Amino acid sequence: MKKYLLSFCLLASFTTVTVAQRQGDPKLTEVWSPAPKVITPGVTAHNAPSDAVVLFGGTDASAWEGVNGGAVKWKVEDNAMTVAGGTGNIKSKQGFSDCQLHIEWRTPAIVKGEGQGRGNSGIFFMGLYELQVLDNYNNVTYSNGQAGSIYKQRMPLVNASRKPGEWQTYDVVFTAPRFNEDGTVKAAARITVLHNGVLVQNNIEIWGATEYIGTPGYTKHADKLPFILQDHGDAVSYRNIWVRALQ
Ligand code: MG
Repeated sequence: MKKYLLSFCLLASFTTVTVAQRQGDPKLTEVWSPAPKVITPGVTAHNAPSDAVVLFGGTDASAWEGVNGGAVKWKVEDNAMTVAGGTGNIKSKQGFSDCQLHIEWRTPAIVKGEGQGRGNSGIFFMGLYELQVLDNYNNVTYSNGQAGSIYKQRMPLVNASRKPGEWQTYDVVFTAPRFNEDGTVKAAARITVLHNGVLVQNNIEIWGATEYIGTPGYTKHADKLPFILQDHGDAVSYRNIWVRALQ
């Protein structure tokens, strides 16, 4: 009897979540507790190896375009490419599948806003799977939306954030999802992320394309797709972006 009661409760709560999700409550997919432990990263520096595709070295944004085409409208100055709020996301002209990515990013030194409204951007692998970029230095937000999270899916193992205005690094190994002919998932995407040289995602499974509201899922797509960098309205800068294609 106890077992049936438990099943009923689980079903009831699942139904409640499903109905509420249809009504579009983004809070349903926020996880606030536990929060990742805060640690202090060491010093890191990574130059592109000889077999890497350099997507941005500091002055030339020609490997990128607006997400709907056209030249990048972000600011390219001081050896960085900085989000010009409202100009839109940008995407790499080249598509990638399995890869190793190095990317450096910096949130504004002058802190404005809080939570998700503070130094927010993001790196979408294959244009679909977001590794969150956020000023998470003494900034509380939901755990699975922190810097180093797979947004709204997987919280980072620790919070290795540097101060606002300081350059930070991500080193990532990404394995693209594989699909069957009929569109079903053969293998989910996987990702390993080092934030400022510290492991924050250890070969974890990505649950599907990033969703702000509702649960993620997979839809069959091309083998290679571009990176997208997010314009979330905050002046986040990028530099030293290089990729080693593994597929
Ligand atoms: Mg973001």
